Amino acid sequence: MQLIELSCSDRLIVEAGALFTGCSFIAGKHIRVHISDGKIKHIEEENDQLIPPVSHKNCRVIGGDHLTIIPCFIDCHVHLALDGVNYSLKKQRINRLLLKDRLQDRLSSYLIHGIAAVRDGGDREGIGVACRDMVERMELKGPLVMASGKALRKYGGYGSFLGPGLAPGEFAQIIKRYAVEGINQVKILVSGIVSFTEYGRVSSVQFDSKELSQIVQVAADHGLKVMAHASSDEAVRLCIKAGVHSVEHGFFLSEDSLKAMAEKGVAWVPTVVPVAVQNQLKPDGRYAKDKLVIEQTYRRQLRMIRRAQQLGVIIGVGTDAGAAGVQHGAGFWQELHLFREAGLTTEEILTAATRNAAYIAGLEDTMGLIAPGRPAYLLVVDNDLSFKSGQLSGIRYMIRPKPDAGAVSSFHYA
Ligand SMILES: [Zn+2]
Repeated sequence: MQLIELSCSDRLIVEAGALFTGCSFIAGKHIRVHISDGKIKHIEEENDQLIPPVSHKNCRVIGGDHLTIIPCFIDCHVHLALDGVNYSLKKQRINRLLLKDRLQDRLSSYLIHGIAAVRDGGDREGIGVACRDMVERMELKGPLVMASGKALRKYGGYGSFLGPGLAPGEFAQIIKRYAVEGINQVKILVSGIVSFTEYGRVSSVQFDSKELSQIVQVAADHGLKVMAHASSDEAVRLCIKAGVHSVEHGFFLSEDSLKAMAEKGVAWVPTVVPVAVQNQLKPDGRYAKDKLVIEQTYRRQLRMIRRAQQLGVIIGVGTDAGAAGVQHGAGFWQELHLFREAGLTTEEILTAATRNAAYIAGLEDTMGLIAPGRPAYLLVVDNDLSFKSGQLSGIRYMIRPKPDAGAVSSFHYA
């Protein structure tokens, strides 16, 4: 994979046999995407053979008939602070230089896998925000980071590694402070996590309906959307009622909840991969019964993804990368494979990974769609978009505006 970063003066033509705009395919034609000033100028479709590259003057030409152009991927749910092995930040709390190296490795893995932006689901130490700022200052090279900072949770509730516990009266003040500090969205832990030993059990809900609605309102007053960690149908129903922007995980949600989400435009990031990989993590250490629980849990999630797609829910691809067993970057391709297993078509999978993901991450004006006038965030890939193996395959180029060209750096604090 070659990363092409376009400065204002660069002109580029990308040729392909097919193009996915973010919603649908333009196929069976020779296509040229003309790029200058870091933006898509126009998209040329023609039925004739492409003119050989040599005829284009002062302009680089890449691609070919056997390739497909798609928008860059966006991972809607990651934890840059976590290493995919151990939740404990204490074990990861290492000297700054080493941490910076590790963050660079994680960021590079996103780029290699075609991911141009990630939405960070937070950590207690504020590492996600620091990482975003280092990318912005070009001290680290990586995807654009939309950071949540520290997650909101109550004293004694689930998620001590994601944020400090707060008393009910403290939330409005803390959201205001985080907003001033420059977070991109609010992350809240509404429920606990899914049990791997008892099917259908989720640790308890931390907030009541009134508290959650107030939090969503205060966040909105500061121009922030809310990404809500919620499994169990009870937690998901609370989130829908409160008007969160996205439900994260959503294991064991009901069909009625999916209908309400479709109606109210609440997005869903199902993060199947952190559960699906559990059986591979410790194949000998688990009881057969527990393996069955894990299998049943993620199979149910796949069925609900298919149902959500039929009902018109906005579904986005997010991995929970950094959680046990989920690698940064690579986890995204496993999630795409799981979406395929759920029975989604290539178009539906790509929409979830690009246009929907951009909307969920708050990047709908920048990424997720290939159209004239939009910043040039493109992947040039081999025509095989089956996502059958869950392994990275076929990305030839990632194209994006140079981080200092304005299109990226102006975005974080918009
Ligand atoms: Zn998470």
